[in-house]
Amino acid sequence: MKRIYFDNASTTRLTEPVLEAMMPYLTGIHGNAMSAYLEGRAAREAVETARIRVARAIGAEPDEIRFTGGGTESDNWAVLGTAARAGTPGKIVTSAIEHHAVLRACEFLAKRGWTIEALPVSPDGFVDPEDLERAITGDTRLVSVMLANNEIGTVQPVRALAEIAHSHGVPFHTDAVQAVGALRIDVKELGADLLSVSGHKFHAPKGVGALYIRKGTGIQPLLRGGAQEGGLRAGTENVPGIVGIGAAIELAAGSVEERAQRVRGMRDALVRGILESVPGSFLNGSADRRLPGNANLCLRPLDSPTLVPLLDMRGIAASNGSACAAGSDEPSHVLKALGIGIREINGSIRFTLNEENTMEEVLEAVSRIRDIASRLP
Ligand code: PLP
Repeated sequence: MKRIYFDNASTTRLTEPVLEAMMPYLTGIHGNAMSAYLEGRAAREAVETARIRVARAIGAEPDEIRFTGGGTESDNWAVLGTAARAGTPGKIVTSAIEHHAVLRACEFLAKRGWTIEALPVSPDGFVDPEDLERAITGDTRLVSVMLANNEIGTVQPVRALAEIAHSHGVPFHTDAVQAVGALRIDVKELGADLLSVSGHKFHAPKGVGALYIRKGTGIQPLLRGGAQEGGLRAGTENVPGIVGIGAAIELAAGSVEERAQRVRGMRDALVRGILESVPGSFLNGSADRRLPGNANLCLRPLDSPTLVPLLDMRGIAASNGSACAAGSDEPSHVLKALGIGIREINGSIRFTLNEENTMEEVLEAVSRIRDIASRLP
């Protein structure tokens, strides 16, 4: 049976052009980017070229990009690094549907005297800017609201939220891990002071990411012990990974609109096909203000989460939430925040498509899903 990979929000395939760009730095050019001789200079040049590429893709300046070990690290750094810089405990305003990389970092601070307010979302998955306006107090040190949600794909009104934060003199972080590669991103248009990126969501290797830090934003170094990344994130640079994220983001940014249109067409066909052929099924989250490739549907209310293995057995890779939360029995905090009941959460599944999928796969998946749903209790 042909496998159908519909879990591109979890991770994507490392593509050939990205691997080709990386190859020389995996074997031949092995120098440490901090070394002053030829091999080191070659590695340094590759790192700085990648920095320019990442910066250009999101409308930033190269020295506003700091490479990290991925999205979780970027999110943790944004939250904990801003808090550490503040010195004394204050307040952080976030949303109830953030990735755990933000929420758990906030919980860590809550245990150390910080006040954390997680804003609710509407039943279709959006933060209300008026709620943010009300939540900000004199001691608020950071607002962190994601650009696009990893489970339901909703795209938050980040520009409006950033403006509110700034009107109170508060810096604004956005987790753009799911958005980069899927949407056109301009940090200045968004008004973000800090923005998290993860390479493996857009065909770069796993374990490399970036944090955009707008010039003048106060943040503590993440790691100490070296002058890498402007002295903010010490440690020998992952040169092949950094080259990979630079190549991948340039490719992604160059084709974002064209890909989004094609992916949206396939996603809409998948949603339509499921809604028409699975009685009682419904879409979780907004139908339109969501990522082009995201479809999160309740197929049928269930007593326990069983859909992932059932789909897997029928050759479909899909997920029931964040890959990072897989393995935990906790029902999705995102779907809970939308007000969805536990049985509907257990019966929900996330399909995330990208440009490597085909309409044939969509049609085949609908047929397999119809069959699976017809056997559900
Ligand atoms: N933030 C969001 C919205 C994500 O979807 C993910 C990963 O799924 C992360 C952060 C964590 O990124 P990484 O897997 O690179 O640590």
